[in-house]
Parts: sequence; C-alpha cells; structure tokens
Amino acid sequence: MVLKLGVHVSISGGISNSVDNAMKIGCTAFQVFTRSPRQWKTKELTSHETEIFKEKLGNSPIDPESVVVHMPYLPNLSAPTSEMYEKSISVLTDEITRCNLLGIPHLVIHLGSHLGHGPKNGINQLVKACTKSLYAYNDLGQSRNKVKILLENSAGQKNSIGSQIGEMQSIFDILGKKDYGLCIDTCHLFAAGYDLSTESGVSALVDNIDSHLGLANIKIIHLNDSKGELGSNLDRHYHIGLGKIGENGIRCLVNYKKLSHVPIIMETPIDSVRNDIDNIEFVRNVLCK
Ligand SMILES: [Zn+2]
Ligand SMILES: [Zn+2]
Repeated sequence: MVLKLGVHVSISGGISNSVDNAMKIGCTAFQVFTRSPRQWKTKELTSHETEIFKEKLGNSPIDPESVVVHMPYLPNLSAPTSEMYEKSISVLTDEITRCNLLGIPHLVIHLGSHLGHGPKNGINQLVKACTKSLYAYNDLGQSRNKVKILLENSAGQKNSIGSQIGEMQSIFDILGKKDYGLCIDTCHLFAAGYDLSTESGVSALVDNIDSHLGLANIKIIHLNDSKGELGSNLDRHYHIGLGKIGENGIRCLVNYKKLSHVPIIMETPIDSVRNDIDNIEFVRNVLCK
C-alpha cells in the first residue's frame, strides 16, 4: 500500500499552483487554504480557476481523497452569539462551497474557543454553526454537498473545545458521522496529555479513539511533532522525530496497521534545521517496508 503523505502547500499565484507545489516535493497527499488564512474577505473562485485545479489534480498521481482544505484561522465556531460568530458561520458556508467547487472532499476545522462561556455553550454553538452552514450550502441550490467537515482536536489551550477524546465523542453524538469526520493532530494530542512517545501510549490512544469514535471516522492525520511538553497545552509544531514525541513514537504511529489507510499531512516549520522535503523523507525512512 502506498503511503499517502504530504504537507500543507502554498496556493500563491492561484489555487491550481498547489498541485504543482505538492508534486515538486513528492507529496502523495496535501493540504491547502483556499484563501489567505488571516483575512475575512476573499474573492470568489472563478470557474476557470476551479477547472484548472481539477484538471491538474486529475492529471497527477495524487488521489483527490488525499487532498484537504484547512479553514482560515480567524473564524471561531464555538464563540457566543455575536457578529463574529455570524461571520464565522458564513466563512464556513463559503469554504464548504469552495471545497465542492474544487472537488476536494475534506474540510478541516478548528473547534474554536467558548471565550469563557463554558464548554457546554461552546459545543452548542459549534454544532449550530456546522448545521447552519450545511443548510446554507444546500439552500444555495448548488450540487449536493460532497464535503465532509473534519473536526480537528485541539491542544487544550484556555477555553478551547475538543482537546479530549471524550468531548469529541459528545460532539459527534450530536452531529452524527454522515457529513463529519475526524482530523487528529499528533502535536495537539500530545500537548493535551496523550503520551504518543511510546508504543504503549500510541496503542492506548488508538484504542481510545476506536472505542469512542471509531477508527473509520479518522479521515486525516496531522502528523506534527511537539515542541511543548506532554500535557503543556502548547500548540507548537516541530520537525518530525525531533520534538518531545520523538522518533520512537512517530515510528509506532506511521507504522500502525489500523491507520495505514489514512492520509498524513505535516504542518511542520521550514527553517535551518529542515524543510518539507526533509520531513517527508524522514517519515518515509522510518516506515517499515
Ligand atoms: Zn488545524
Ligand atoms: Zn497546531
């Protein structure tokens, strides 16, 4: 089985460039933003842009199932009702639309912050936001939604939603799994207290996810090592194998048979220590062939 492995790539100069950028560094999976992640406003994608993207992806060896869009950073889907919350819902609707136009089946979202109003309120708001966005998309009378919204676990920063598997389960219990799936981020898990640095820690986590959420529900793995300590709640990604999770934990994870079908995306830094190609190569090297 070919490992689906890649990184977050740039869309600079047009979204179809992402396919070239992914191919250039040997990705067999990749992630993009469909717009600048730190701005609310964006231009609509033209049919010309979406057609070129689909054509390039279709002509590449990359399976469209291994491509994922990440939501921009500004929206907060579990915020109390406010102008910012309403804006967040409209960005989500927009991103669902853009994914459908691009033929990308996965949209990763952060679950947001309840901003002091408590996790129960935050989860309610999140569920409402997701449901409203999907309704709004369907209301636009476009093609039937083919995009799954992937809920990404958080590192457990103050007021954040979704750092614990049990809490994720309670969210999925309300949303159901038809339009939703899971994106697990290894750095966030480690920061939230799940010790992935050992083989027994990795198996315990996989069993935990399996019994609460089902492994089939995991659609994407964000493979990131952690600069912060176990349980630190710090969202600090680091090069694969060089952080606190370390080579041993990473080796166990990427060789875990029950997860071998899941595309792996890295969101690691590019600096004097390593670039994306180096991290891809590192993961390929620790794979048992
Ligand atoms: Zn993310
Ligand atoms: Zn992160």
